[in-house]
Amino acid sequence: MDRPRFVIEATEVESMAKKSGVSILELLPSLVKSAKKLARPPISKYHVGAVGLGSNGRIFFGVNLEFPGLPLHQSVHAEQFLITNALINRESQINYFAVSSAPCGHCRQFLQEIRGATDIKILITSSDNGEEEGGEFKPISGFLPHRFGPDDLLEKNVPLLLEPHDNGLVECNNVYSNGIYCNGNVDIGIGKLKIAAFEAANASHAPYSGCPSGVAIMDSDGKVYKGSYTESAAYNPSLGPIQAALVAYIASGGGGYEKIVAGVLVEKEGAMVGQEGTAMLLLKTISPQCTSLDGVMFVFDYGKVLAYDLVGDKWFEKPVQDIGISSPSGYPDDLVLGHVAAIGKNSLCVVWVDWVASDESNDECCSSW
Ligand SMILES: [Zn+2]
Repeated sequence: MDRPRFVIEATEVESMAKKSGVSILELLPSLVKSAKKLARPPISKYHVGAVGLGSNGRIFFGVNLEFPGLPLHQSVHAEQFLITNALINRESQINYFAVSSAPCGHCRQFLQEIRGATDIKILITSSDNGEEEGGEFKPISGFLPHRFGPDDLLEKNVPLLLEPHDNGLVECNNVYSNGIYCNGNVDIGIGKLKIAAFEAANASHAPYSGCPSGVAIMDSDGKVYKGSYTESAAYNPSLGPIQAALVAYIASGGGGYEKIVAGVLVEKEGAMVGQEGTAMLLLKTISPQCTSLDGVMFVFDYGKVLAYDLVGDKWFEKPVQDIGISSPSGYPDDLVLGHVAAIGKNSLCVVWVDWVASDESNDECCSSW
């Protein structure tokens, strides 16, 4: 089965429009139904799909996400997903989008973080009495009168959402240095996961609090997905870095959340706006096979566990019963994938190790990440 797609390249967009005998703008509402099918709203069962056009002709999908077991405000709305998807794919502007339901207040506010937001045109495809494609594009200024946004709070030269950011975070080993801080004891050389989280934190849009952050997650195939924290001038519509990383996971065709086996958060030490507790809670809730263990990462061997103490920078052994997880392998000759995740200060997290024969050394099995 083909993986669901959340980005359509410009050449394909052109040929789709040509084939359907419509303009590219007319194509947007016709794709909303397809986008809705990709939504994941297990609580409300209310699917929302958004389809946006980028400045260079690509089309981006957005869908709503809900997470059972967590507060409702952890949800991601389709418009937030759409903009985050565009951001991940280095799109610089979304000028038009069609959406299945009228944007909520939070989303109208969230969209203000884009430069020239008042000119973004929105088309709502569903009528008051049900499903119906139609309507026309209308500027967002009509959806949010008496607007409040970045231009009320920031200098004009401060980069806005979808514009390049470099927050200047550097590794600092728990030391405050020239006003540039980062989460302590982060050894950027340890793996691609941490590097990705660091990149995401440096690209984060957090001009109001000055507390950028980024999350990178890894699936059981070893693929890495990163997401940056995005702030709103009105605070509450802000989108957390773990949600942004999940958008990247889903937009790349990721399947169930149980495939997520690792996560790393990078944020400033002692940040006024911190993500650690929320990111860890969300990851543990949606991927319960993961076990949160601060400061260590684990590789399962038959009957024992090899653990790596990230803070102490050393390997150690632990009986498998000590961590309450049994090896799923029926074969004692195999090392198996360890579903372990811990996000946090000094703890980073995690491990992904694919099936490997036991005669390979741990160094070898770890060299792939
Ligand atoms: Zn919304």
